[in-house]
Amino acid sequence: MNKLNKSVTLTAVLAAAALTAMNTAFRIPQYTAVILVSFAVSALVLTLIAFACVKHFTKERIIRDRENILRIMQSLNTMAVLWDSDFRYIEANAELTKNIGYTSEDLADMKTLQKVLPPDAFAPSLQAIVNSRDEEFTVIAKGGAKVNTIWNTSIISSSESKTRQSCLMLSIGLDISETVRMKEDLIKYSKELAESEKRYALSMGLSEIGLLLKEPGKSGYYISEQLMTMLGLNVMEISEGVLRARFHPADEMTFNALLAAMVNPYAGSDSDTIHSTEFRLLSADNTYHWYQFRYKISPAETKLLANIGGAVIDVTKDKEKDSIIEKMAYIDDVTQIFNRNKFMQIGQETFECSHDMNISYWVVVLDIDNFHIINDTCGYQNGNKLLAEFAAVMQNVITDSGFGARIGGDNFALLIRDVGDDELPVRIIKKIQDKVKDLCAESFSLQTITCSAGYCKMSDGGSDFAQVLDRAEFSLSMSDGSKSSIIRYDNKIHDKIIAGTALENELAAAIENNELALYYQPKIDLSDGSLMGMEALIRWIKPDGTVVPPSQFIPVAENSLLITKISAFVLKEACRQNKEWQDKGYPPITVSINLTAVDFYQTDVKESIQRALDETGMEAEWLDVELTESLALKDIDHAIKQMEDIKALGVKLSMDDFGTGYSSLSYIQVLPITLLKLDRSFIMYLEEDEISREIVSAVIRIAKSKKIETIAEGIETIGQAEILKKSGCDLAQGYFFGKPMPADKFEEFMAMKAKQQAKPAVELRVES
Ligand code: C2E
Ligand code: MG
Ligand code: MG
Repeated sequence: MNKLNKSVTLTAVLAAAALTAMNTAFRIPQYTAVILVSFAVSALVLTLIAFACVKHFTKERIIRDRENILRIMQSLNTMAVLWDSDFRYIEANAELTKNIGYTSEDLADMKTLQKVLPPDAFAPSLQAIVNSRDEEFTVIAKGGAKVNTIWNTSIISSSESKTRQSCLMLSIGLDISETVRMKEDLIKYSKELAESEKRYALSMGLSEIGLLLKEPGKSGYYISEQLMTMLGLNVMEISEGVLRARFHPADEMTFNALLAAMVNPYAGSDSDTIHSTEFRLLSADNTYHWYQFRYKISPAETKLLANIGGAVIDVTKDKEKDSIIEKMAYIDDVTQIFNRNKFMQIGQETFECSHDMNISYWVVVLDIDNFHIINDTCGYQNGNKLLAEFAAVMQNVITDSGFGARIGGDNFALLIRDVGDDELPVRIIKKIQDKVKDLCAESFSLQTITCSAGYCKMSDGGSDFAQVLDRAEFSLSMSDGSKSSIIRYDNKIHDKIIAGTALENELAAAIENNELALYYQPKIDLSDGSLMGMEALIRWIKPDGTVVPPSQFIPVAENSLLITKISAFVLKEACRQNKEWQDKGYPPITVSINLTAVDFYQTDVKESIQRALDETGMEAEWLDVELTESLALKDIDHAIKQMEDIKALGVKLSMDDFGTGYSSLSYIQVLPITLLKLDRSFIMYLEEDEISREIVSAVIRIAKSKKIETIAEGIETIGQAEILKKSGCDLAQGYFFGKPMPADKFEEFMAMKAKQQAKPAVELRVES
C-alpha cells in the first residue's frame, strides 16, 4: 500500500505539471484544463485502488482492505467518499469534510447526508452509479454555502453471493466552484463580447465603414463584413492577388505604394500616425467606386510585414460633388467649354513643359466684332446663344489639334500645338471666321458677324503663360476696330507693351510723389447761365511742369489696378476741395467724379464713398458720380444694385458719354440715374447737321418724360449752346463755358460767377 501511496502522490504531481503544460502549450482555457486533468487523476487513482484490490475478491478481503482504502482516501487531496454496495455511506476523507464543514461522523447520519447532497444524488441502481462518470452537482456545505463538485464513482472491491452483489464503491470528487465561476464569467463575457461585436458591426454597417487589415505573418488580408458587402465578396480573408485585381488599373501605383509601406514603413512615421489615401475598387455593383483608406501602420518588431489596417470609406459621392465643383470652377456656364481659369491652368502647365520638351504652342485670342450690337438688338438670350454657337464652331475647327476656352465676355482663346507652320494660326482663325459668318446668317438673321484675333507664339518669349496670353490680347487690342482683323504679336507691339510697362512704373512713382492733381471744369445751368457744378478731371503734372492728360494714363492705371489708388485720391480730394470752397462762403455746387468699371464693381464702393464724405464733412447731395454706359452694360444687374447702393447714400448718379455705346434710351431708363450726359460726338455737328439736332432733341424729350435731367458736354460754340437751350437741355459743359482748370483758377472762376449771379440779369453768357 505504501507503493500505492507513492503512486497517488506521483499522480498528483504529474497532474499539476500537466495542468500547466496544457494551459501554456495548447492554450486550453484554464477551467477546461482543470477538469480534464482532475478526471485523468480520478481515473488513475481509481484504477490504482482497483488494481490494489483486484486480487482480493472475497468479502473478507473487502473488510480487510477497507482499512487500507480508508487510509489511501485520507491521503488524497481530492474529495473522496466510500460507499457500500447498498450505497450506504461508509466514510468521507478529510478533504471532503474540510470543504463542506461536516465531520465524517456527521455524514454517517442519513439526514445530514441528505442535507448535503442534492435530492437526486442517489442513483437508482448500482449500475447507474457505476456508469455515472463526470457527475456534476452542487453540495450544500455546513452553513448553506454551495460547493460545485464533480464526481466519478467506481467499484473498487466486490464479491458475489448467490443473492446479491456486495462491493465497495469509491467516489472521487473535485471542488470545481472556481472553474464553474470562471466558466460563468466566460459565458457572460463572451455574451457581452458578442453583443459589443454586434453593436460594433452595426455601427460599422450604419456608418458604411469597412475594415481592411494586414496582420504580420498572414499572407491574406482580413476584410470586415461591411467591406465584404461593399465589394461583393463572400470571404473574410482575401489574397493579395484578389485585392490587386479589385484595384482600378489607374490606381495600381497606389496599391504598390501601400505594399511598399508595409515592408518599409514611411520614414519618421510612428504607429499613431493616421495615413490616408484614395483609390478606386471594383465594387458589388460591378462598377468602380472611390474609396478613402484611412490607416495606421505598426512597424513590426520582427522582419515580418508591418501591421497595416484601417477604415475603408466609400467617397464616390464626394468625388462626384468635387467634379461638380470643378465643373463650376472650370466650365463656362453659357458655352459649356472651359473658362479662363482652366485656360490659365492648362496654359501654365503647357508653358512649363514646353520649355523642357522643346515644343511650342500658338496662343490665339478671338473677339466677336461688335458683339454688343447683338445683345442690344437681339437681346441677351440671343447674345448667349451666339456665344454658345461660336464656342461650338471654334471647338469643331480645332478638334484635337488644340484646346479652346471662353476667357471673358465675347473673348475666346485657343492653345494650338506649333508644328513649324507659321501660317497655321491664321488658317485656323480664317476657318472659324468663315463658319461664324454662316452660323450668324442662319441663327440671328443678321447680315454678317465677324471676329478678330490676336495671336503669338509661346516660344517667342514671356516669363509665364499669363504674359504670353497678355501679348495675344494686346495684339488683339491693336486692331483699329476694323472687322475680321488678325494681328500677330511683333516687335512694334512689343515696344508698345514695354512703353506701357514703363509708364505704369512711372505712374506708380508719380502717385507716391503726389504728382496727381485735380482740374475742375464748370457745369452751367442753361436756363440762367449760373454755375451749378463742376467736373473733377485728373491731371498728372510732372516735376518739369508737363501736364499729362488722363487719356494717356487712365487705361494703364486700369490694367494695373493703380486705378484704385487714383480713384481714392480723386474722391477724397474732390470732396475736400468742394467742402473747403463751401466753407469759404461760395454758393454750394455739385462736384462730379468719374469712376471706372474697376472702381465701380468693387464690393466696398459704397463704403469708400461714405468714408470720403465722413472724412471731409461734405454733404452727400453735393457729390455726383459719373459712370459710362459701357461700364453699366458690363453686368447690368450688378450695376443696378451698385447704383442703388450709391444712390441710397444721397449721392447723384450721371450717365457719362451717352450716345457712344449702343444702348437704347429705353434701356437707360432702368438705371437709377438722375442726369444724362450727351456725348461730345452728338454736339460737334449740331449746327450743320439736321439729323444730329433731331436726335439730340428726341433724346432730351424722352429723358424729360422720364424725369431725367440732361447735360451736353463738349460745347465749344455759342451756336451749339443756343440749339441745346432751345431743345430743352438743362445743363452745359464745354470749353465755351470754361476749360478744365486747376483749383486756384477755378476758385477765381467761382468768384467771378458769384459776382455775376449777384447781378439781376439772367442771360446766357459766354466765358472763355
Ligand atoms: P469725360 O469724363 O467725358 O470728361 C470730359 C472730357 O472732355 C475731359 O477730357 C474734358 O477736358 C473734355 N472736354 C470738356 N469740354 C470739352 C470741349 O469743349 N471740347 C473738347 N475737345 N473736349 C472737352 P479729359 O479731362 O482729358 O478727360 C478725358 C477722360 O478721362 C474723361 O472723359 C474721363 O473719362 C477720364 N477721366 C478724367 N478724369 C478722370 C478721373 O479722375 N478718373 C477717371 N476714372 N477718369 C477720368
Ligand atoms: Mg466725365
Ligand atoms: Mg464724357
